[in-house]
Amino acid sequence: MVKVRFAPSPTGCLHLGSARTALFNFLFARSRGGKFVLRIEDSDRRRSHQRLVEEILEDLRWLGLFWDEGPYFQSERIEIYKRYAKRLLEEGKAYKQQEAIIFKVNPTRIRVKDLIHKEIEFDSSMLKDQVLIKSDGFPTYNFACVVDDYEMGITTVIRGDDHISNTPKQIMLYQAFGWQIPEFAHIPLIMEPEGGRLSKRYGATAVKEYRDKGYLPEALLNYLVLLGWGKGEKEILSLEEMIRRFSLYDINRTQAVFNIDKLTWINAQHIKQLEDERLARLCLPFLQRENLASEEDFDYLKKVVALLKGRIKYLSQITELSAYFFLPAHIEYTEESRARINKIGKDLWRELIEKLEEIDNFSPDEIERVCRQIIASRGLKGADLIHPLRSALTNMSVGPGLFELMSVLGKKKTIDRLKCIIA
Ligand code: GLU
Repeated sequence: MVKVRFAPSPTGCLHLGSARTALFNFLFARSRGGKFVLRIEDSDRRRSHQRLVEEILEDLRWLGLFWDEGPYFQSERIEIYKRYAKRLLEEGKAYKQQEAIIFKVNPTRIRVKDLIHKEIEFDSSMLKDQVLIKSDGFPTYNFACVVDDYEMGITTVIRGDDHISNTPKQIMLYQAFGWQIPEFAHIPLIMEPEGGRLSKRYGATAVKEYRDKGYLPEALLNYLVLLGWGKGEKEILSLEEMIRRFSLYDINRTQAVFNIDKLTWINAQHIKQLEDERLARLCLPFLQRENLASEEDFDYLKKVVALLKGRIKYLSQITELSAYFFLPAHIEYTEESRARINKIGKDLWRELIEKLEEIDNFSPDEIERVCRQIIASRGLKGADLIHPLRSALTNMSVGPGLFELMSVLGKKKTIDRLKCIIA
């Protein structure tokens, strides 16, 4: 059985690169009926923070990347590392320097079979002796990592390319202990379009920032899996489909270039697929934060999101796209809206209000029939009424179908808002 692990250091929040590493581990385990272990590498006491541990766990749960075992905490395993270091000390493979324990490096050639990069070769004569336990009693990353991967029965180490240089150092330790070396798969890092590793300078890198902006977890995972993987046939994938299609061998060896427009497009596709109920649930907190809607508006909100679904690229846009459904009758119009509204006279607005008031069933068809009647009787073009009317009701020049929108807005809100115009 394969067993993999995701081993974040809580020295920063979960960023896209580490989320992608977690995803690949998760997919590998799920697609092979294996186990996915979570290990928190918090042995660097000064740089690790409990708050970040909690954030990382929360982000992983939000993404749906549930682990089967752990989380293990390296900070709780210090005695284990000391015991193994002592063993190397006793076997003459390490020596003491004050309180620290140092591994003796013998010059040899080390070959790493990498599932993505094929074979990588290193010459250990370039390496200095390696610290195993620092003078403060805490292990170094390379040492703790090897001890844990061995103890936890990890069969395949899937991690970022930035760890390639650590791999020979770790292999030397496996050899010194006489342990079986796991398989390695170093996945290419996420790069900026102009080159260089994806960084904050370029834009949001933290998973949390995307979550706050209203990206869906399934869309983020979908984007991350496509980034440098896949054969381009089908792009919108559910987690189940990703598991079914995933293979480490299909990961490109070249670096993956981040593209926010592609991510946003994928997000919009996933939003379109959501059921109204779920989309409304997800949108509500954004509207609550702006005091636009509350739980009581939920049924109304369901109709609103059904109407706007195709226009939402990320959830936080809902406040801007739907504000007019929730605002009081009187709205502060933009210059542009006011100009459009003033193109038709008060008597026309009055007639429209009267005719709308006569409608019993405020359906899109009925509303359209009334509007067309007025347009025809006054010898207008459709746009002469429709554009000012849209501006009057929404303070916007584009949006969903006007008659559908009015029907959702409802008879009372529609008429109240129009009355504010003639007042
Ligand atoms: N703690 C390391 C990191 O966050 C993990 C490296 C590994 O997966 O071996 O980069």
